[in-house]
Amino acid sequence: MNAPAEGEQPLTGGAVWTVAEQVGGRLTPVSYELLAWGRQLADKLDALGRKGAELCSVVMGTGLDEGDLRGLILRGADKVYVVESPALERFLARPYTRALERLIRWHKPEIILAGATTTGRTLMPYLAVRIPTGLTADCTGLDIDDETGNLIQTRPAIGGNVLATIVTATHRPQMATVRPRSAVPPPPVDGRQGEVIRVQMDEQLLQSRVERLGFRSLERDEANIQEAEKVVSGGRGLKKAENFALIRELAQKLGAAVGASRDAVERGWIPYPHQVGLSGKTVSPGLYVAVGISGSIQHLAGMRTADCIVAVNNDPDAQIFQVADFGVVGDLFEFLPALVEELERRKPGKGADG
Ligand SMILES: Cc1cc2nc3c(=O)[nH]c(=O)nc-3n(C[C@H](O)[C@H](O)[C@H](O)COP(=O)(O)OP(=O)(O)OC[C@H]3O[C@@H](n4cnc5c(N)ncnc54)[C@H](O)[C@@H]3O)c2cc1C
Repeated sequence: MNAPAEGEQPLTGGAVWTVAEQVGGRLTPVSYELLAWGRQLADKLDALGRKGAELCSVVMGTGLDEGDLRGLILRGADKVYVVESPALERFLARPYTRALERLIRWHKPEIILAGATTTGRTLMPYLAVRIPTGLTADCTGLDIDDETGNLIQTRPAIGGNVLATIVTATHRPQMATVRPRSAVPPPPVDGRQGEVIRVQMDEQLLQSRVERLGFRSLERDEANIQEAEKVVSGGRGLKKAENFALIRELAQKLGAAVGASRDAVERGWIPYPHQVGLSGKTVSPGLYVAVGISGSIQHLAGMRTADCIVAVNNDPDAQIFQVADFGVVGDLFEFLPALVEELERRKPGKGADG
C-alpha cells in the first residue's frame, strides 16, 4: 500500500494506535505491553459506540521479524501498519517522525500510545509539534471518560507525591507515552485474525540530516538496573568517585546492579544510566540498598516500590529511613567493608556457618 499524498482525505477514524519498537528487526517487550492498554481503550471506545474503534500497531524498521508482526495480532492488534526502509533501521527522530506523521494524517487515529522509553520520549514530542496536538509523558494509567469519550491520562507528578489526571480535550489525536512495565503484555490467542498492512513511503521523506556514525551499546551493568532483582545505590555520602568501588564490590557480592542518586551522577562519579529517581529510572527490585543517600522525594519516586529497602546513613534523621525496612545508622566507610568481608566469609565453600 502506498501512502497517499499530503492532504488526502482520511480513510478511517476513531482508532487506537500503539507505536511498537524494534531492535535489529525484533520487537521489544514494550511493544506488547502497549497492546494491553490499547486493547482496553479500543474496547471501551467501541462499547461507547465510537465508529472505527479498532486497535492498530505501527512498526517502523527494516528486516522485521514476520513472527513478531503476527504476534502483535495474536496479542490484540486488529491491524499492523508496517513501514520498512533501511532509513528506519535504528531510531532517528526525523525519519521516524515523518513516517508516523504521514500515517496519522492519512488515517486520523483517535489515540496514539508510545512507550515512555528513550525512543518514545524523543519521537512523540517531535510529532506533537508537527501535528500539532498535546502529549502526556510517562503515564502510569489510562482510561476513557464515559461521558466525553476523552482519553484520561494519569501520571505521577510533584516527585510522585500526587497523581495528575490530564485530558487532551480539544486536539486530536490524543497522545501519551506509557511507562514501561506498567502493564502485562496480553497472552497470544491462537488463530486470532488481523491484517498486516505494508505501507510504502517515499524514501525522500525518510531522509535525515543526522548521520549515524556508530553505535555503542551500554555495558550490561549500566543498562540493567530496571530489570535487576537487586540494586545497590550510592549517593553523595561516598564523597568521591573512587569510593564507588565500595558500592560495586557490595553489588558484585550480592549479584546486584549498581544504582546512584542524581547527586552522584551530576558529580560525574557514575554515568547517567545508573541514576534512580524522578529524572532517572524507576526500579522495583526485590532488594534495594541505599548507601549515603539522604532519601529526597525525587530519589524515593524511583525506588519506593522495592520489596525490601535497606539504608546505610550516618544521619539518624535521614529521610531514607522513613521508607527503609532495615536501617543501619553508621559510617558507610566502616560498614561496607565489614559487610563485604562477612559476605565473603559466608560464601559457600568458605567454611562459614551460614
Ligand atoms: C526536578 C528534580 C529532579 C530530580 N531527580 C532526581 C533523581 O532522579 N534522582 C535523585 O537521586 N535525585 C534527584 N533530584 C535531586 C534530589 O533533590 C537530591 O538533591 C539528591 O537525591 C540528593 O542526592 P544524595 O542523597 O546522594 O545526596 P545528599 O542529599 O547530600 O545525601 C547524602 C547523604 O549521605 C549521608 N552521608 C554522608 N557521609 C556519610 C557516611 N560517611 N556514611 C553514611 N552516610 C553518609 C548524609 O547523611 C546524607 O544523608 C532531583 C531534583 C529535582 C529538583
